Parts: sequence; structure tokens; C-alpha cells
Amino acid sequence: MRAEIVGVGNELLLGFVDNTNASYLSRALAALGIETRGHTSVGDDLEEAAEVIRNALRRADIVLTTGGLGPTDDDLTREAAAEAVGRPLAEDEGLAEELQNRMRSRNRPFSWRVARQANLIRGAWPLNNAHGTAPGQYLFLDDEKRLLALLPGPAYELIPMVETHLLPVLSAFRRGPLFRTRTLKFFGIGEPALEETLLSMDGLHHLVSWAPYGKEAELHVCLRAGGGSEEEIQEKLGQAIEMISSRLGKVLFTVGDGNMEGAVADLLVQRRLTVGAAESCTGGLLAHRLTNVPGSSAYFRGGVTCYSGESKIEVVGVKPAILEEPGVLSAECAAALAEGARRIFRADLGVGITGLAGPGGGTPEIPSGTVFFAVDGPHGPVVERGYFPAARQVTKERTAQAALDLLRRYLLKSPV
Ligand code: ATP
Ligand code: MG
Repeated sequence: MRAEIVGVGNELLLGFVDNTNASYLSRALAALGIETRGHTSVGDDLEEAAEVIRNALRRADIVLTTGGLGPTDDDLTREAAAEAVGRPLAEDEGLAEELQNRMRSRNRPFSWRVARQANLIRGAWPLNNAHGTAPGQYLFLDDEKRLLALLPGPAYELIPMVETHLLPVLSAFRRGPLFRTRTLKFFGIGEPALEETLLSMDGLHHLVSWAPYGKEAELHVCLRAGGGSEEEIQEKLGQAIEMISSRLGKVLFTVGDGNMEGAVADLLVQRRLTVGAAESCTGGLLAHRLTNVPGSSAYFRGGVTCYSGESKIEVVGVKPAILEEPGVLSAECAAALAEGARRIFRADLGVGITGLAGPGGGTPEIPSGTVFFAVDGPHGPVVERGYFPAARQVTKERTAQAALDLLRRYLLKSPV
């Protein structure tokens, strides 16, 4: 089944409001196994909106509009939809009475503008709006082959209306093949290399289709499988994930909604290991992320932000000679911080991070954005150098992410 979503409102076209309603509705439809094939935005113009709705109904089985149901003159989605489907609007007595009561109880006048909101397209059913005046509505078209629903613009009105009233209608209406998606999250591999590997896997494209997209420092791949039953689809997704993780297990850090710190936390818990951190340029971001995971006290022993040279020496125990030569921006310093973090927090593993977040202060050998991060533990120290030139905060985020990933790979080598 194909769905399309139409956002109505000049504010969308002017760029004042992001079309978050469309993304919300697409996610809600996908959860029912219904595929969204188009998002369109149109201004508060009767003819243009009618044309967009008419076109969407030619292509899709389900068309959902948001916005333009309110009492003001620019709210004309109801009129546009009526014109698009060639049916008249008429006042619904029950809705009119509800609106009157609502306005009376709030001591507000009941004008013809308010009354407009009680109009339903012939054959439509109202959708109660628990958080605003404008009810939504839905109707079946072409012998119940298509569904059109008009929904309000504000998210606090839209979301409860969809969850309570529209989802049951949609699940009863849904027919034909289903589809499901699953997101795989990668770090440390580029899009071309990933694409090439996926294409080289025999039979993968018979099971799923995929769409890679970069998200911050990560690469996400949305797998999509279709089929006649839930079991068939889950089987396909399971096989595909198995194939991919056996080839790309090192760079695939999680499947589903998880994140990097959650993946690290899982490995620490499984292996019953603890960790401490000594961070310079990330300012405690790695500790912050690890402690965002519920239950982090089981494995996170503590972290220090040792920003000055003195604090690296006095708090973490880095040898003064290292800070002289090769200096604070070095693999040696990162390794010494990791070793120190492990020691002062009496943890199984230590993470050390140093680097130059910039924008100033770089040299040709060590340009701004260069970072060194290390993990120390039972298998000895490992250090990596990264180069993340970007706005200061982005450099910090990338560095924390890369250090977490190094910790993750270190843990994969540790016995369970
Ligand atoms: P109201 O009864 O409040 O007038 P309405 O259904 O007429 O509701 P609009 O007037 O079109 O809706 O939009 C009201 C507000 O809802 C907008 O100012 C905007 O903040 C939000 N909104 C509208 N459309 C969207 C959208 N597609 N995505 C996110 N927010 C939206
Ligand atoms: Mg409005």
C-alpha cells in the first residue's frame, strides 16, 4: 500500500516550520507496514491545495493531510479536499453542538469561522480533537479502495488524534503485502566501501533492499524487507542481518535503536569489566555519554577532565617528560592518560583522550582537529590518531565517538 502526506501551510513553504508532521506520520505508517511514497507541501491556497490532494489521490491508496483545519481564513484544507474529491461540505450537527459547548464553556464567541470547523465532507467520519477545536476527518473513496484523512497542524493535536483514532482505522484498512525496516549502524567505514560490500554479498538483494545515510559521525543503513506475513519478513531481515554482521561485524556497532555508548555498555557488562577515563579536549564528553546509559555504575568507575598540563601530571600521573617531548599532542600522551585513568580509578580499562579541538593553534605536522585517543587494559595499550577538523563542538563529538569505538573494538577482543 502506498501513502502520501500533504502538509498545508505557507509557514512550511516559507521555511518557518519544519515539516515534522510528515516524518512523524511516515514513521507511524511504517510501523503498520505501510510505505510512504511522497511528502508534499503546499501553501494556503484553495486551488493549489486541491490540485495537490487530487494528484496525491491518483497515486496513493492513503492520503493524509496536516494543517489548515482551524478557524482562520487561511485554513482551507477542508474546502480544498472537498473540491479535490468532488463532494460537498455540510455541517455535522453533533460536531457543531460540541463546538458550541466548547466555546461556551470557555466564554468565547461562536462565530461562523468557528462553525466552519464542524463541516464534514459528505461521507466523512469525524476524528475527535482532544487538544484543540478543529476536529479531523477521514473518508473512503473509490469503493473503499482509498482513504483520505485531514489532520490538524499542531503536533500536540495531531499526535493524540492519530494514536487514538486514526491508527485503528489505518490498521483495519491496511491490505496486501507488508514491509518492515531495521536500521544497522556502522562506524569506521565509508559509504562507497559499505555499498560495495553489500552489493558483493550473494543473495542479499533477494532478501532486502537498503538505503544508506550518514548521520553525524555514523553511517546508518535502513534495511527494508517485504512479504506476505510478519514471519516471512522477520526471517528475511534476520538472514540479511546475519549475512551483513558476519562480513562487517567489526564496523557494525548496533542493530535497531541503540547507540554507540549502549553498544560499549553491553560489551562491558557481558565481560564484567570496568572502565575509567581521562579526557582533555573532549571535556568529559565520553564520560557523559557512558553515564547516559542506565545502569552505568556497574562498569563506569569515573572520569577526569584534565585540561592543563599540571592536571595531567598531578591528577592522572602522566610523566612530565612526555609533556615536554613528544608533547601533549601525541600518541604517548594519550596512552599515558589511558594508563593513568586505569590506575587512578582502579578499573580494568582506561581511556585517554588528548587533541587540538581548534580552531587555532595548529602546526603543519599537527593541524587543528588532530586528536589522539587510547585504551589501556589487559591486552596492553592501543592508540589511534584521528583528524576531525570541524566546528569545536563537532570535533569534540567525533573524538568521543571515535574513542568509544576504539573501546568497543578493544572489548570485542576481550574474552566473555
Ligand atoms: P489551528 O487550529 O491551530 O489553526 P490548523 O490545523 O489550522 O490548526 P495550521 O494553522 O496549519 O493548523 O498550523 C498551526 C501550527 O501547527 C503551525 O503554526 C505550526 O506550528 C504547526 N504545523 C503546521 N503544519 C505543520 C507540519 N507539517 N509540521 C510541523 N508543524 C506543523
Ligand atoms: Mg490554522
